[in-house]
Amino acid sequence: MAQSHIPRQTFFVDAMLGKLARWLRILGYDAAYERNISDEDIVDRVLNEHRWLLTRDRYLVQRKAVRGRFTLIHSDFVIDQLWQLRTELQVRLTIDEETVCRCVACNHILETIPPSQARPRVPPFVAKHHTHFTGCPNCGQLYWAGTHWGHLQERLKLLSQASPHQGPDS
Ligand SMILES: [Zn+2]
Repeated sequence: MAQSHIPRQTFFVDAMLGKLARWLRILGYDAAYERNISDEDIVDRVLNEHRWLLTRDRYLVQRKAVRGRFTLIHSDFVIDQLWQLRTELQVRLTIDEETVCRCVACNHILETIPPSQARPRVPPFVAKHHTHFTGCPNCGQLYWAGTHWGHLQERLKLLSQASPHQGPDS
């Protein structure tokens, strides 16, 4: 498996930040996320898997074990959250074919799926017009480069041009 293009930053995203986790995966980052997980288990995974903790929980980051390994996210808006990561951790807000390597649903690395295997499992229009498919070996989700990626690219472009919201307090 070619790993050279996979970004080096790996994250653990807390339960309040599901949208941010999905965006980080779209951007190709390794972003672990569990909806139901205790603070103890979060800390364990951050330490054992060498992950950087992204959280909105002011109490969680007071734990000694996570000192120097977290970013406390300030905003409720995913746009501002991504901006904060860009500013503080140099997270890249661009997508291209190289970065589309990770399952948005479960964070697993995607594999190329031969068109003959993918076509029976996608809508006819997609089957007819696409030749490159990737799939998640973990959850079975199929992906193809389509209008969806174009749309995301547009959003990211706007996102990197727009100035962040001013939060109610900071
Ligand atoms: Zn998956």
